[in-house]
Amino acid sequence: MKFNSFYSRRDLLKFALYATASSLISSKLNAKNDNILKDKKIVVVGAGISGLSAAKKLTQYGAKVKVLEANNYIGGRIKTDWSFGNDAPFEVGAGWIHGPSSKNPTKKLADKLGCKYFVTNDDNVTTYDEDGSEWDDERWEEVLNIWEKTLLNVDKKLEFNDKRNLRKAIEDINPKALKYPGVLWALSAYTEFDKGTSIEKVSAVYHDDDKAFPGADVIIKNGYSTLINNIAKNLDIVLNTKVTSINTNLGKVIEIQTDKEAYNCDFVICSVPLGVLKAKRIKFIPELPSKFKESIMKIGFGSVTKIAHRFDEPFWDTKIQYFGVNTKEKGRWNYWLNYRTFSKQNILLGLSVGDYALIADNLSEREKKTDSLSVLRNVWGKDISEPNKSISTNWSNDQNFLGAYSYTKPGAKPKDYENLSMPVDNKLFFCGEHTVFDYSATTHGALLSGLNVAGKIIEAA
Ligand SMILES: Cc1cc2nc3c(=O)[nH]c(=O)nc-3n(C[C@H](O)[C@H](O)[C@H](O)COP(=O)(O)OP(=O)(O)OC[C@H]3O[C@@H](n4cnc5c(N)ncnc54)[C@H](O)[C@@H]3O)c2cc1C
Repeated sequence: MKFNSFYSRRDLLKFALYATASSLISSKLNAKNDNILKDKKIVVVGAGISGLSAAKKLTQYGAKVKVLEANNYIGGRIKTDWSFGNDAPFEVGAGWIHGPSSKNPTKKLADKLGCKYFVTNDDNVTTYDEDGSEWDDERWEEVLNIWEKTLLNVDKKLEFNDKRNLRKAIEDINPKALKYPGVLWALSAYTEFDKGTSIEKVSAVYHDDDKAFPGADVIIKNGYSTLINNIAKNLDIVLNTKVTSINTNLGKVIEIQTDKEAYNCDFVICSVPLGVLKAKRIKFIPELPSKFKESIMKIGFGSVTKIAHRFDEPFWDTKIQYFGVNTKEKGRWNYWLNYRTFSKQNILLGLSVGDYALIADNLSEREKKTDSLSVLRNVWGKDISEPNKSISTNWSNDQNFLGAYSYTKPGAKPKDYENLSMPVDNKLFFCGEHTVFDYSATTHGALLSGLNVAGKIIEAA
């Protein structure tokens, strides 16, 4: 059935916090002198959208920039796989432009490149219980009403220094909510997906305090990587080069050690994911300030797992955009995107979120396939065909990421994200989605953080 719209998923979660991004970007970026950074050598560690945006901007101001990337591709958590065919991008990382308004920098760039979009409709969804019984309109409205009221109520009752996780706060404040069958599904399919972690791990106070641009989410038909390829044009990027240490203790010169050779520079930008910083994969000499190290541990880094199956024939209603499945294990392949709404390919893309994403990441390819297909078979019947091709992701075990995106743990604050954006000794700078609380966990947040750090280097030079 088609759910009659009253809130889109992200509109509810972000309430009225639509914002402009300009306050994040240093006014120095408007400086007239194009050669303000002439002769300055800058190394950017990581070729994700944040590092590449910073590199591009700094190059425009005359700096000699080198980007060192551990992987054999550019884009990091933006990576389009075209192996399903040229009308069916499989986005290994970011899939949507969230809030694609004219102020959203990711959308602005995609528009400039002439990208074509498909608008996804969160309200065009049919949900089933695990045994395949379809929810009727009454059940839907009831579940979403309780979900919405519960989150609003929790939000109203909490003080800023509350240290409870979201589940605990709901159990204390609205104990009946979780007993209604299906509310836990909504909290998982929407809140846990949005946050990239479980409701048991995310802060009750800050789980919905970040900002969003308005507009229904879109998929980029040309693939998200189009943006990366454009930003990276003419940049000096060295692939397959893992940075192992950054030494800012040698006077004016900074030494960057990699698994191959060493590089010297005047400024260094570290744009590696929070998971890599948490795992101390890069040695900083001297050690990072304690405030910085504390914030690295206080902010969380979760996972989201995707699997896409392509079938010879569709066995589902091809006009429905999303299918929800109220699986017993919270977060287990509980939300599916139907490619037939924007592509000719008979593809269903399933998501595991919350703590189940970490379980799914630890399954083998074959186990992941069997596990996700068993959810589809429970709903559509045992006789559905085998997929002719499947692709899945595993972000939490990828050593160059160790997770999908950042979230606010109980006890952490927006100030912790700000701490991670602070320059150390005006030589070592940081950017990445985990350095901007307001737009964390998004491509536009990462892009803005790259422009922001470029402004900081211009100020420091
Ligand atoms: C599954 C998933 C779904 C998502 N969905 C969305 C979405 O729909 N919409 C949205 O807006 N955002 C989404 N995101 C978030 C978005 O992809 C990220 O916020 C953004 O791409 C992060 O960019 P970044 O530059 O901060 O980091 P990254 O893209 O992670 O770039 C960091 C780079 O550093 C490299 N690196 C790591 N260690 C080293 C080292 N030692 N030496 C050199 N290089 C190193 C990495 O290989 C990587 O290329 C999603 C992310 C994931 C994983």
